[in-house]
Amino acid sequence: DHFQLSLDTAPYKGTLSLNTGLFINGEFVDGIEGQKVDVTNPTTGKTITSVCAGTSKDVDVAVEVAYKAYKTSWGLKVPGSTRGRILYKLADLVQEHGKEIMALEVLNTGKPWSIARDIDIKNSIDVLRYYAGWADKVHGKTIETTENKLAYTRHEPYGVVGVIVPWNWPLMTLLCKIAPALATGNTVVAKPSEITPLTALKLAGMLSQAGVPPGVVNIVNGYGPTVGEAMSHHPLIRKISFTGSTLVGRRIQEASAKSNLKVVSLELGGKSPNIIFDDANIEQAVKWASMGVFLNKGEACIAGSRIFVQEGIYDAFVKALGNVGRSFDAATGDPFSPGTVHGPQASKVHFERIMGYIEAGKSGGATLICGGERRGNDGYFVKPTVFADCTPDMKIVREEIFGPVASVIKFKTEEEVIEMANDSTYGLACGLFTENSSRAIRVAHALEAGMAFVNSYGNTDISVPFGGSKQSGFGRELGAYALDTFTQVKAVHINI
Ligand code: NAD
Repeated sequence: DHFQLSLDTAPYKGTLSLNTGLFINGEFVDGIEGQKVDVTNPTTGKTITSVCAGTSKDVDVAVEVAYKAYKTSWGLKVPGSTRGRILYKLADLVQEHGKEIMALEVLNTGKPWSIARDIDIKNSIDVLRYYAGWADKVHGKTIETTENKLAYTRHEPYGVVGVIVPWNWPLMTLLCKIAPALATGNTVVAKPSEITPLTALKLAGMLSQAGVPPGVVNIVNGYGPTVGEAMSHHPLIRKISFTGSTLVGRRIQEASAKSNLKVVSLELGGKSPNIIFDDANIEQAVKWASMGVFLNKGEACIAGSRIFVQEGIYDAFVKALGNVGRSFDAATGDPFSPGTVHGPQASKVHFERIMGYIEAGKSGGATLICGGERRGNDGYFVKPTVFADCTPDMKIVREEIFGPVASVIKFKTEEEVIEMANDSTYGLACGLFTENSSRAIRVAHALEAGMAFVNSYGNTDISVPFGGSKQSGFGRELGAYALDTFTQVKAVHINI
């Protein structure tokens, strides 16, 4: 089945078209049980199209062909330089179709066009090229032991890797996993979020043109409890790379323990602290902190949603943050419009969850500075919201909201704020603003997080490792570190 839509928007005029089947063994096919899932436009709440939804039977087929492809047409059979060339070609194709991909992402997620352009598509292309470059540079070591013995290591692929991703950066998250997985010789069975499957299908349509052999990448759309669970339990999948909620990450880890002890890497939720000291450059701190929590409608795992502000600048900071929140609200609208900086939340369920947290903020005693309600009656728009005078025990301070809601907490001393910031089950990212470089380093080291931003927030880079600590997960993506995430080390001992 095909999906086609003509768009006449400011940034994209033209046709969107893609196949809505499952992509298995280099072909689009219907799911064995014929199920479908509706895909919604969150700007209007209306259905865009429906796509095939797989079941465990489709997962079985996809894993089998991926395993066969690993043995016959990929893996270490294919020189790294060839795998790299294919990834470069895929990057070129994604770039060539970049505008259509952006339009699909904007339509399906409600993210502003500028975000799709500057983050989603940019990183999707860059990450393919980054790992294309690595594909022929994954080496082991020679280890001198005794005179009559030689030992060396090989970094071998796992075989079939399972990839499961959420809906906030649909194609980008998928490629941050697929690119290093393929570069290191694995084959892939991937499940996009059932909420945002369109760009993964668009990608699937480009794979053979890029030279990716059949079976090397398979896309099985469908629901988590069916397709995702089947992948997590599958005995031939040797590794799962997951991005999503802590709840589901835990289930995947359990499934691994109950099946074949597959290696799991988890990029999970967060409730990241962002600390503004009295001596910070306030203008910069407000700019970065507001982007840190409102960017992409707050649908960012690393969102700096707990903002700790030192007492001397507290009132001024809160006022300025509220003003930015209101300016984001004023620039809310059709995500395809060039001036839009804030769009609708990605789904109705998610929108309702966020509204629930806003109610909890109000009834829990926090001071509402701006926002605090939905915008309009169509689509899933939430006004950028700032709550001040929050206390560490509040629900809006403890739980991940994943929406445009900032909780601001006043603090007095460095020791006190480190303790409050670390008082979380999560440990994904953290930020801090100070002009005192000793303090910057001291606090960056003291905070329990996989990533620390000093005098900026959230400006990650594909060459720098990305991942969390505590219940935000383990395993690293991006950078050279991801080469380890997608390979296993074999030690070879040779008597001479
Ligand atoms: P989610 O965990 O509900 O879903 C993520 C994916 O897992 C989806 O594809 C879903 O279908 C699948 N899934 C659901 N149940 C499953 C099961 N039982 N077994 C296997 N797979 C299953 O998360 P979401 O609501 O789509 O995304 C939001 C969450 O993702 C937030 O918690 C956010 O912090 C997190 N996230 C983390 C990062 C990161 O890099 N750390 C990045 C983006 C999002």
